[in-house]
Amino acid sequence: MATRKQNKNLLIVEDNLADYVQYCRLLETVTHDFDELVHVETIDSALAYLEQAYPLACIMDNVLPDGDALTLMQRIAHVYGKIEFPIVVSTGYGNERLAVELLRQGAQDYMAKDQLRAIDLMSSLDHAVRTYELSEQVNYLAFHDSLTGLVNRKLFMDRLQQTFAELKRYKRAFSVLYIDLDHFKDVNDLYGHDVGDELLEWVGERLKEATRETDTVARLGGDEFAILLGDINPEKAAYVTHKLVLALTSVENIHGHNILISPSVGLAHSDPEIEHSEDLLRRADLALYESKRNGRGKYTIYSANLESSKLTREQRRDALYSAILNKRLRVAYQPIFATQSLSCEHVEALVRWRHQGEDVSPLEIVDLVLDNSMGEVFHQWLFEDIAAQLSEWQEDYPNLHVAINIPGSCCHESALFDALLSAANKYHVDPLKIIVEITESQKILEPDEVKLRLGEAKARGMGVAIDDFGTGFNSLEYLASLPCNILKIDQQFFFDLESSATNLKIIKGITALAHSLGLSVVAEGIKDESAYLAAKDSGCDFVQGFWLARPGFAQGLSMQASAG
Ligand code: C2E
Ligand code: MG
Ligand code: MG
Repeated sequence: MATRKQNKNLLIVEDNLADYVQYCRLLETVTHDFDELVHVETIDSALAYLEQAYPLACIMDNVLPDGDALTLMQRIAHVYGKIEFPIVVSTGYGNERLAVELLRQGAQDYMAKDQLRAIDLMSSLDHAVRTYELSEQVNYLAFHDSLTGLVNRKLFMDRLQQTFAELKRYKRAFSVLYIDLDHFKDVNDLYGHDVGDELLEWVGERLKEATRETDTVARLGGDEFAILLGDINPEKAAYVTHKLVLALTSVENIHGHNILISPSVGLAHSDPEIEHSEDLLRRADLALYESKRNGRGKYTIYSANLESSKLTREQRRDALYSAILNKRLRVAYQPIFATQSLSCEHVEALVRWRHQGEDVSPLEIVDLVLDNSMGEVFHQWLFEDIAAQLSEWQEDYPNLHVAINIPGSCCHESALFDALLSAANKYHVDPLKIIVEITESQKILEPDEVKLRLGEAKARGMGVAIDDFGTGFNSLEYLASLPCNILKIDQQFFFDLESSATNLKIIKGITALAHSLGLSVVAEGIKDESAYLAAKDSGCDFVQGFWLARPGFAQGLSMQASAG
């Protein structure tokens, strides 16, 4: 069906010519907003007119040659899904019961034709227009998200249900996308809700741009969006999804903050096997969750093997929370060696969670923690566990330091550093033995607050390391502005040294730069001898990697390098 536009006409559906002429005469005596008066005499001719456009308002005679006003209203609603304009029903008889019924069915007002004055006609039309607009607004609010103007969850579910039913009947293919913004909570926490809101609006606009008018783009709540791609084959749907991920991956300047945006997306195709429309959204959610697990900023297409874990994000969140509270998480330690002597100077603490027989990636653990406001309880457990272990090690390894990963987005929180200090205190660990590693994954720091916190940590003797240097957006900015004393070169540079001569140059350049700023350098990801030699040749002070020692639990951990 072609898209029809609204015009500014008054449609008069009236089979009695004298009545029509009377309306014309009355309307001549007053000022009104109608461009034209359009006269039709039957239900069929009214419907034919509506195929082209719909009017600003309509006067509808109750009794027409081919039916009554109620029938006409029902037929319009059937064809177009709703009545798109206000209606005043007129009749020769003052039948109140009929009036109530007509109002219930979608008319806005009712008038008796006998002794009609211009003022009655106009006030009836005005009233109908105002009532209609008001009910449109109420409807709009009930089915749309007020921030982005997108369809809300309720309407999305309705449309999904409708499309689902059509699929069953006409065997049409469609797809559902579930989208979640990566690290959105951090944006709100760090920059406030105004910035968060603006980001959501920006996302809403990009989603609209990337889809067709006939697709349904919804904000389901928070930073979750969904799209219903109607009448589309799976290949095309995957292409649209790919385009969408690209469109949403960007650095946007919002209120002066450079914010890295990326989405995690799940895509599910219609499937005749599915019994309920909600199951399709659940499939897309499961696929989205897989994208998060695999490092975010990407999309996953649902496949049956994703069902094996049978875990929704909520279930995983609850399981993690209970694991933290019941101390079922563990900490592994990976030794880090001085490059020349290969003596172990410090270890890096890495969280581990074995859940349902499977090791959950620490990146996923941290994401779940941060996305669900579990940071406080997680870090309290983590710090105490590490401090207790360090205190145990003190006798055998009096000079051993431990590096603890702190998410970039938490670095401004003074409570976090208080918790770290009080854990150290509790186990009589000197803060000098602690290094905080700022993981760059969040890439959005509140620089002043972070500077303050890290400055305080340094003043207490802790080491401050910038982790995974060289891959993030703010790297050089970090180096210049943050009070740190260690720089860890991201493992990626050491992984493909053979294929990329540039990597070695970058490693050398970063090391020289770090040294000139008075920082020591840790080479990460030393997975073989050539990586070790590259680190040594470049002047890196410390080396960390599987070739030297894999992460392991404290009991039985060897502080000797296994190679080299
Ligand atoms: P990271 O801080 O850069 O930690 C080093 C990661 O590299 C560890 O992965 C380690 O197992 C891995 N690795 C070390 N040497 C090699 C190597 O030679 N080859 C390869 N392929 N990998 C190597 P892991 O334990 O999976 O942790 C991944 C990331 O998760 C960490 O990267 C860190 O960003 C985060 N993470 C881990 N534990 C915690 C934690 O307790 N808190 C926070 N905030 N983040 C954590
Ligand atoms: Mg680290
Ligand atoms: Mg690292």
